[in-house]
Amino acid sequence: MEERGSPDGDPARSLEQGPEGPETPIQVVLRVRPMSTAELHRGDQSALHCSGTRTLQVSPPGGGPDMAFRFGAVLDGACTQEDVFRACGVKRLGELALHGFSCTVFTFGQTGSGKTYTLTGPPPQGEGVPVPPSLTGIMQRTFAWLLDRVHHLGFPVTLRASYLEIYNEQVRDLLSLGSPRPLPVRWSKARGFYVEQLRVVEFGSLEALMELLQMGLSRRQSSSHTLNQASSRSHALLTLYVSRPTPQQVPPVDPGKPPVGGKLCFVDLAGSEKVAATGSRGQLMLEANSINRSLLALGHCISLLLDPQRKQSHIPFRDSKLTKLLADSLGGRGVTLMVACVSPSAQCLPETLSTLRYASRAQRVTTRPQGPKSPGAKPPQQGAAELLHLQEENHHLQSQLDQMRTKAPGIHGARVAWAQRNLYGMLQEFMLENERLRKEMRQLRSSRDLAWAEQRVLAQQVHELERHLHSAPALPQQGSAPMCPCSMCPAASCRARPPFCPCFHLCPLCRVSLAHWACPRRECLVPQQELGPEAPGYISLSARPPPSAPPPSPGSSKPPRERSHSDWTQTQVLAEMLIGEEVVPSAPPMPTGSSNMSPMIRGESGIPNLTQKLDTVTHQISNSLNLGQSQSQPSDSMQGPSQGLSPP
Ligand code: ADP
Ligand code: MG
Repeated sequence: MEERGSPDGDPARSLEQGPEGPETPIQVVLRVRPMSTAELHRGDQSALHCSGTRTLQVSPPGGGPDMAFRFGAVLDGACTQEDVFRACGVKRLGELALHGFSCTVFTFGQTGSGKTYTLTGPPPQGEGVPVPPSLTGIMQRTFAWLLDRVHHLGFPVTLRASYLEIYNEQVRDLLSLGSPRPLPVRWSKARGFYVEQLRVVEFGSLEALMELLQMGLSRRQSSSHTLNQASSRSHALLTLYVSRPTPQQVPPVDPGKPPVGGKLCFVDLAGSEKVAATGSRGQLMLEANSINRSLLALGHCISLLLDPQRKQSHIPFRDSKLTKLLADSLGGRGVTLMVACVSPSAQCLPETLSTLRYASRAQRVTTRPQGPKSPGAKPPQQGAAELLHLQEENHHLQSQLDQMRTKAPGIHGARVAWAQRNLYGMLQEFMLENERLRKEMRQLRSSRDLAWAEQRVLAQQVHELERHLHSAPALPQQGSAPMCPCSMCPAASCRARPPFCPCFHLCPLCRVSLAHWACPRRECLVPQQELGPEAPGYISLSARPPPSAPPPSPGSSKPPRERSHSDWTQTQVLAEMLIGEEVVPSAPPMPTGSSNMSPMIRGESGIPNLTQKLDTVTHQISNSLNLGQSQSQPSDSMQGPSQGLSPP
């Protein structure tokens, strides 16, 4: 490509000013690349025309209405790399970085639109073959300008560089000593989002910096597809850190500490791509999806940043690594320049229009550039404005104080100071008190949760007991109704006793082997039709012996009924409670709250009732069992129900 003079007029002039006050809009420059050989070969028409140095005219093929887009500068295909460097205003950003500001330049556009070319020139023609000086991009030109500028500053400056890429949502260090490995992105109040363990290399000469750039470029992920022979498959961020070497200087990589000095970051975004147009498959498609996702997140953040109510709305910078690392440049304290790149071909018009709309929106986003804390480094205009503001505030406060003195002449000097001290003391007390109350509230909440859990378990147990108790009247009434069928069926009827019983399973109520229920004589001993369907030992225990029990005897006329697992579990719980054996707790133990806590908070509310109810029901069941037992005494040779029951 031929070098050419500066474009008509001076589109950069407006960009060569410092931040215009507290809010500074993102500067957007548009670069239209020349038609590629392939596009010319296909006979593509150009849909874009530059009108003046700031406006782009879009003429859709097929005769739609023309559209116009206005940017800080519009650079057509005839512009050289030097033109772009001079017109885009990157020198202003370099200057601000030297003054301690955090500045970002990023290229944006469809894949193959010339983003990487604009930043670093054409792809390397071979290993170790340098880019011809006339084709070097904004980055190399800025490096040369910055080092020259630093050389003439008259005071020492420390320069460092880091270079990373975001590939498939993973941050990789392009300057790492070993092979690049994924690095975490962290956040701290002082630094915002930053990459942990990122290698930051100090350099002293342009050659050293160029070597770092070459190292990163050669390691960056790129692939070939239909629209670009050397398509970048990752977003790449090269950051230059500028600082004054002082004894207190903290390296910018130290987590939790803000970087000292300014920085200038160059971001080469991977291009948005339509997978169908690029013909991406497999790994290429995965990369394209991850690129598109992060660009979508970027677009979403930009849209929200445009919202006039944005102070209230949440900006989802955390949605992608890219938006995390650009958070400060987009909505924070940085100064940002966007170079939007487009192809002139009418075939690319949908993507071009989308880039133009995106870029138009971006130039309405504002940041609040913030320089170093030391007032000496502030731009003079900003410093003067702040001084004026502080003087006004001081005057206002003085007049208010005077008014107070005239209204309340008693409050003077020491008394005012006392009142202030007192207020401060009160504030501190409130803070401590609040902290204490918050802690107490947390404890109480956890106690309450435990109590609720306990209450649920008790309610369930009471419900179970009640269910069994209500089913008891269905037993045959002989005087008083025995609870357990075993107590109706004299144990003497079965000769096989535990541990000799084949099934070796005990009735949970009376502790008699359930082998009785599989006993051939069971039918004659227990009139089944008389047992209510809800009778314990009938539904819960009857139809089928436990899994370890032998199959029903051939003499049994009725087929065994399926018994659910819950039947067994419930019955076992009931039995264990009645015999007073230890039951495995099903809920965490009750908290041992302080005695002055309310019963509700300690989880006692509702539980006394339940516990009482539980006791009553247990008592009733025991009585019923005892009554049944006294009516049918077990024989000496058999273990009776009473032997299995421990006192209530
Ligand atoms: P992107 O990074 O947007 O995907 P590239 O920068 O890789 O696109 O450019 C795609 C191709 O177009 C490359 O071969 C590049 O050399 C060429 N190209 C881009 N912009 C220009 C330009 N202004 N002049 C000449 N060639 C260009
Ligand atoms: Mg690229």
